[in-house]
This record gives sequence, C-alpha cells and structure tokens, in this order.
Amino acid sequence: MANMLHQKLVDNGVDLRLKTGLAAITECPIQLTESDNTDDYDKPLSPHFHLQLALSDNTTLATDLVILAIGVKPETSLASACGLELGQLGGIRVDDEMRTSDADIFAVGDAIETADFVTGNPTLIPLAVR
Ligand SMILES: Cc1cc2nc3c(=O)[nH]c(=O)nc-3n(C[C@H](O)[C@H](O)[C@H](O)COP(=O)(O)OP(=O)(O)OC[C@H]3O[C@@H](n4cnc5c(N)ncnc54)[C@H](O)[C@@H]3O)c2cc1C
Repeated sequence: MANMLHQKLVDNGVDLRLKTGLAAITECPIQLTESDNTDDYDKPLSPHFHLQLALSDNTTLATDLVILAIGVKPETSLASACGLELGQLGGIRVDDEMRTSDADIFAVGDAIETADFVTGNPTLIPLAVR
C-alpha cells in the first residue's frame, strides 16, 4: 500500500526522501530588491527570510515553509521505573478516575492510556482538550 502511495507522489513530482530525518532548521535573511517588493515604494523593505534545512544525510534544502506532520510517543520511563503499569500502547494505564496501578498515584496528559470513549479500546490521545 505504502509503495503505491510513494509511486503516486513521485509520479506527481514530489521529491520523496524516505529514511531521511530533519536535523536542523536555520533562518537565513534574504535581501529583497525593489522589484521583489510590492508596489508600495514608500515603505522600507522589510527583512525577509528563507529556511535552510539540514538533513540527516548531510544534504541541505532551502524553503519558505516547513509543515511538520509527526507522531508523538509517550515518555513513560519515570512511571515505568516507579513500577506503574503501562498499557498495551505504551502509555501509563489509568482507570476512569485517572488512577494508575498504584491507588495513590493519578496521571493525566499525553503519557496516559485510557479507554476510547466510543470503542472502549485502549487509546492514546495526545491533545490538551479531551
Ligand atoms: C505543535 C503542537 C500543536 C498542538 N496543538 C494542539 C491543539 O491545537 N489542541 C490541543 O488540544 N492540543 C494540541 N497539542 C497537544 C498538547 O500540546 C498536548 O496534548 C499537551 O501539551 C499535553 O500536556 P502534558 O501536560 O501531558 O504534556 P506537556 O505539555 O508536554 O508537559 C510535560 C512537561 O513535563 C516536562 N518534563 C518531561 N520530563 C520531565 C522530567 N523527567 N522531569 C521534569 N519535567 C519533565 C516537560 O519539559 C514539559 O514541560 C499540540 C502539540 C504540539 C506539539
């Protein structure tokens, strides 16, 4: 399935780079000329930037816009080291009252695993509004 999607993207001119991470983003000032600016010549040219992206394969890219579409994973090492039970998705398992496997410890936030409101299946909901 993923291969078909990759091929479709490439066929439509997308420069698809798999197994390549983003290592750093640097803001680079660009000097605009009068002709690059709007037709309002009375205003001074405002500073303009583009972004220089350093990739994990030691190549760089220049762009004006970066859209991050990345997942999140609960960081539960502290809870785990304290002996709290984790759920099957790796979050801190809590009950309906946000109580962990230790009755005196409650947990909230991105690190918890609860029952999905609709399906009842274990779920991770990395949102501030739940
Ligand atoms: C780009 C982005 C956009 C988002 N937009 C939305 C949105 O529009 N609507 C929405 O509802 N949610 C949004 N979220 C999700 C929302 O930000 C999180 O769900 C929410 O912040 C989770 O709160 P939290 O307290 O669990 O974790 P966090 O807010 O991540 O807080 C955890 C804190 O614990 C600290 N910490 C971690 N480890 C330790 C340690 N060992 N010792 C001491 N301190 C530690 C961290 O530094 C951090 O300050 C967005 C998230 C991102 C990344």
